[in-house]
Amino acid sequence: MTDEVYLDYQSAKPVDPRVLDAMLPFFTERFGNAASLHGVGDRATAALEESRARVAAFIGAEPDEVIFTSGATESNNLALIGYANRNKRAGDHVIISEVDHISIHNIGKYLEKAEFKVGKVPPDQFGRINPAKLRSRITDDTILVSVGWASNEIGTVQPIAEIAEMLKGTGVALHVDAVAAEGQLPIDMREVPVDLLTLSSNDIYGPPGLGALYIRKGVKLGPIMMGGGQERGLRSGTEPLPLIVGMAEAADISAAEMAADAARMAAMRDRLISAVLSTIPDSHLNGHPTLRLPNNAHFRFEGVEGESLLLSMRDEGIAVSTGSACSSKTLEPSHTLISCGLLHEEAHGSLEFTFGRFSKDSDIDRVMEVLPGIVLRLRRMSPLYKTD
Ligand code: PMP
Repeated sequence: MTDEVYLDYQSAKPVDPRVLDAMLPFFTERFGNAASLHGVGDRATAALEESRARVAAFIGAEPDEVIFTSGATESNNLALIGYANRNKRAGDHVIISEVDHISIHNIGKYLEKAEFKVGKVPPDQFGRINPAKLRSRITDDTILVSVGWASNEIGTVQPIAEIAEMLKGTGVALHVDAVAAEGQLPIDMREVPVDLLTLSSNDIYGPPGLGALYIRKGVKLGPIMMGGGQERGLRSGTEPLPLIVGMAEAADISAAEMAADAARMAAMRDRLISAVLSTIPDSHLNGHPTLRLPNNAHFRFEGVEGESLLLSMRDEGIAVSTGSACSSKTLEPSHTLISCGLLHEEAHGSLEFTFGRFSKDSDIDRVMEVLPGIVLRLRRMSPLYKTD
């Protein structure tokens, strides 16, 4: 073990050792293909279906409302493209939000090429989508709305229950990418009338390379990948049993520990936020002051480049992010921050800290030992930072 401080849980999480223990037998003696008509296949089917029931229970769903995919990107593709294609006769208009994950934005671009109309609803300055504003965009041709449960970048939590209620009875389906929120906020399909919900295994400390899509009973989708017809014909390809067993274990652990985990992370988040804002002049919190994920603290430092901050933190052995992990290798400013009304240079001066199950209070001590000095040093060299 190194003494590196890892505060980038939104980008990747370690697999919980208890999850790994549950998975290991399924790589060797308990291997099997659920489609096979022999004992090994039957046992694989039993493990697959038991796991599906556990993942479904995690979100208050029925087992036959959950299918497994290769991850959140695929679940988002299947939800939006699969739904749009299958329901085209009812209309050709899809609404997404400006603060959603890059995968949703790029699926939107794809749908436009496929001759759908795609509208983007803007957030307020905190990254929240207003349900009334969303409603005003709905036309007779609208078939689907997609909004993330929470932002993977700035941590703002969306009013999903209100949006779902608002759409009820309109005939417009609601897809929610719950990846940033899962394991941190309770998600219950019996309580909130969402039609399609994207989950990722790694985001609840399960193995990477696996996701799930919740499809409410009666909601019709077409497949986007052709093959052997697994997962009710919606997602062909032999199910990766060790990963699926791992996600089920991760879901059980998450359900049992979510409240305590979230409270612990929120306390760390609040401690970091107040330490940064009170110690570093001209620093600001991005996203909503209170309606934010328990594990997310996202700051903007005037006159400083986020990339330089990140690299200086890296030299100190602290791993953080400048924003969206998925597109952090581009020099484009975050679309989420720009949508919230930040100028390009403000968006570029941002840094995201995300806590997780294995974060410690001493991680914050370490950040506060070095961050004020790094900001000061970079500002001294910055033509953008004005001193009086
Ligand atoms: N949606 C959200 C909200 C995400 O944060 C991510 C990235 N973790 C994805 C979708 C895509 O996930 P993946 O790259 O694992 O497919």
